[in-house]
Parts: sequence; C-alpha cells; structure tokens
Amino acid sequence: MRAAVLEAPGMPLRTATLPDPEPAPGQVLLRVGACGVCRTDLHLRDAEIEATKLPVVLGHQIVGRTPDGERFGVPWLGWTDGDCVYCTSGRENLCPRARFTGRDIDGGFAELTVADRRFCLKLPDELSDQEAAPLLCGGLIGYRALTFTGDARRLGLYGFGSSAHMICQVAVFQGREVYAFTRPGDGRTQRFALKLGASWAGGSDEAPPEPLDAAIIFASAGQLVPLALQALAPGGTVVCAGIHMSDIPSFPYEYLWHERSVQSVANLTRRDAEEFLALAVRVPVRATVATYALDRAEDALVDLRAGRFEGTAVIVP
Ligand SMILES: [Zn+2]
Ligand SMILES: [Zn+2]
Repeated sequence: MRAAVLEAPGMPLRTATLPDPEPAPGQVLLRVGACGVCRTDLHLRDAEIEATKLPVVLGHQIVGRTPDGERFGVPWLGWTDGDCVYCTSGRENLCPRARFTGRDIDGGFAELTVADRRFCLKLPDELSDQEAAPLLCGGLIGYRALTFTGDARRLGLYGFGSSAHMICQVAVFQGREVYAFTRPGDGRTQRFALKLGASWAGGSDEAPPEPLDAAIIFASAGQLVPLALQALAPGGTVVCAGIHMSDIPSFPYEYLWHERSVQSVANLTRRDAEEFLALAVRVPVRATVATYALDRAEDALVDLRAGRFEGTAVIVP
C-alpha cells in the first residue's frame, strides 16, 4: 500500500510503498476513504510533540471501510487498558497507558490501515467520508472543550482554524454568541468567522466588545492565555484545547482573581464521540474542506503551518 510516512521528526513526510497491514485479533482492516489533517500531525512532523513510533504513518481522523463494506471512523484514542482508575471512572482520555492513532499506532495517511474495533466509531450515514473526517478530532476535541465552558453565553474562540470553524457552528446552534479571535490583521479569517455565524471577529490583541463568559484557545501560542483571561467576566473559564502550547508568560494574579479559571483538555472519550457525532448531524456542522492527494500530505502540513486554507485539510488516498 501507499502511505505518507514520517521517518524522523523535523523531516518532510515521504510517500512510500509499505507492506499491507495485517489486522491482529480484535482489529479491523480498513480501506481509507478520507483522513483529516490535524494540527497535532504538524506538531509531530515539526518535533513539537514526540513521535513514539518511528517511522510512523500520521493521521488520526480516519474514515474507512472494512472488506465487507462497513464504514467506521478512527479517532486519536486508539487503545486503552480498560482497567485503570481513569478507564473505570469514565475518563479513558486520561488512561496512562493509552495509545494514540497516528503516533503510537500507524494512522490514516495511507490507502489501508488497521484499528482496534472497540475504538472505531459508527458514523452517521448523512455525512460523506470527507465531511465526517474533520469531525473526528477537530470537531470532537473541540466539542469536549466546549463542554468545559458550561452554559457560557458569550464564548470567545482564539485561533479560528479547523476545530474553531466547526465549534463556532455548534455554539451558534446552541444559542451562544461567538467572538472569534484571529492573528491580528487576518481579515480573511475574520470574514470567514462572521460568515459562519460569529457575532464579532477581531485580532487576538483586541478586547471583545463585551466581557466573555468563557474562551477556548485552539492556537498553540501560550501568550494567548493571559490575553483571554483579561477578556473574561468574573467566574469565566479559559479552556486550552490543544495538545501543545508554547510557554505561558507570567501574569498578575488579578487576571485570575474573581474565580476565573484555566483548564486544559486532553484527548477524547468514546462517549464524547457518540454525543458529538449525533449533535453534528442536527446542527448540521459543515466543515470547509481543502482536499489533498496522498502524495501531497507534506504540502497539506506546510499549508496548515502557513495558514494557506480556511477550515480543514483532508487527505484523500
Ligand atoms: Zn487531532
Ligand atoms: Zn486506563
């Protein structure tokens, strides 16, 4: 099979021919129909988070079909032990032995992949492969971050990429007001946010017109944390949704005072996926997709780094 392989951190992905994967007991073999590109793939590529298996096939938003034609989604959470204190208390996202698709297990930037059947997700028939793929991490982990904002009415989204452009649609559907923060001067992305229902869009260095009840930071820039805290009303929460963030600069306690809080989000549970996929059909969440052929997987990462497309990139093998 053909696959886009990360051979060493910091190296461009290389398209290679690999032996077809063989499903182990409990695994399914899938022919990949589409695989979404996530910022985590770029962090692995750029050695900002460690790739534990090398060489590795990246990609953890996989839509594929079994030889019998059954369609599944394969998310980032690829395996857990099932018996630790986290797994047995509804928090499998924190399992210390968890293995992740496209990092510890070969992922979906490939023609074929294998996945543990217990972690494969049933996908709604309403969604095509390319529509469903971006929901499987950007949508799903964004949704988990959204749940940590409670019933916040005024919601700030910092970094308006793949995840935010889908969560904006969910938040508007839920009757919230969305305030979209982009790189200063990025009028194109600000217009994109307004088109998707945001009430306001501006630069991350700007104060929103009204204090926010909560903010989700999707961008990996730690300096956004004190900025977002300053935009919050008392009692508000800043949720950091990414897997990697640059250091957070120190800030006066006053920014946190009045019961403001900062919270991170790690991974997903299968329950998040069930809830979110059902909700995504009702909204309905429509991802804006830029498609790339398998041998252009490296270009997709380069374009993501440079902000060359709105929404999300999807690899179509
Ligand atoms: Zn991801
Ligand atoms: Zn566990």
